[in-house]
Amino acid sequence: MLAELSPALIAEVHDAAKLLASKQRICLLTGAGISAESGIPTFRDKQTGLWENHRAEDLATPEAFACDPALVWSWYQWRRQLVADKKPNPAHKALAYWQHHAKANHQQLTLITQNVDDLHEQAGSTVVHLHGNLARNRCSQCQTPYTSASNHSKDSEALDNSDVDRQDAETLITCSHCGGYIRPDIVWFGESLPVQAWQTAEEAAADCEVFISIGTSSLVYPAAGLAQLAKRNGAKVIEINPNPTPNTTVDMIIKEKAGIIMPVLVKQITGS
Ligand code: NAD
Ligand code: ZN
Repeated sequence: MLAELSPALIAEVHDAAKLLASKQRICLLTGAGISAESGIPTFRDKQTGLWENHRAEDLATPEAFACDPALVWSWYQWRRQLVADKKPNPAHKALAYWQHHAKANHQQLTLITQNVDDLHEQAGSTVVHLHGNLARNRCSQCQTPYTSASNHSKDSEALDNSDVDRQDAETLITCSHCGGYIRPDIVWFGESLPVQAWQTAEEAAADCEVFISIGTSSLVYPAAGLAQLAKRNGAKVIEINPNPTPNTTVDMIIKEKAGIIMPVLVKQITGS
């Protein structure tokens, strides 16, 4: 794996590993880029097929749902199908391994994600979701969580796509309590973040010694502000992303794919 990296990247990973191994409190923020190597497109990738003439930023909004709920619902059904068979890649797996190792070694590692897929969980991580969960639905009016009759016996918190797989992509569902349309339990652009998740993220960012941003464009606020919060409180900021971002707080940039860097980095941090 090391052989794939240039000498400059090897030196950067070595420096980052040395810093991370010496610190107690680490906060990690992941974005769509960490799931890109699992085959889930980011929002910056152009959409394909049926959806090639739509921009994700125009569909993932409350205004879009109010204007054309069937269009937004069917886009999410398509995204759910896209994600259903995807598996964690080496970056998710390395992070999960590090998290377990950290626990045993009194290192505090808080993993926060903007992703709505469940690949961190599939890899075995404990993760805080800032932007909700693709597998869940709720009423757009009374907010009651929606679980289809066939799924009532299951743990409603479990990430399970079977609920949505059975539903016709084009058919809107209405709430049995108030008649409102059922929507994905996702935080859309312009909506507030879940209070508890945001509080955990803010506390971890403000308290950490190193903040690592992996696969995020650093364009979507308030999540993008977490690196700034960490920096103001004295943390070092590391970014792992093959492309430049507007994140100006960064002390160390590792310009390579997460799936290539994370296994090498974690191996060096944990010594295993
Ligand atoms: P984004 O689409 O804005 O940016 C993705 C970033 O990942 C880019 O900066 C890109 O350069 C980088 N990237 C691409 N491939 C990478 C790789 N292999 N390794 C590391 N980095 C890589 O995503 P965002 O910053 O997460 O924010 C946009 C919103 O998109 C979020 O709210 C998120 O919920 C949503 N989203 C989630 C998923 C998902 O759950 N998998 C997918 C698409 C979009
Ligand atoms: Zn309702």
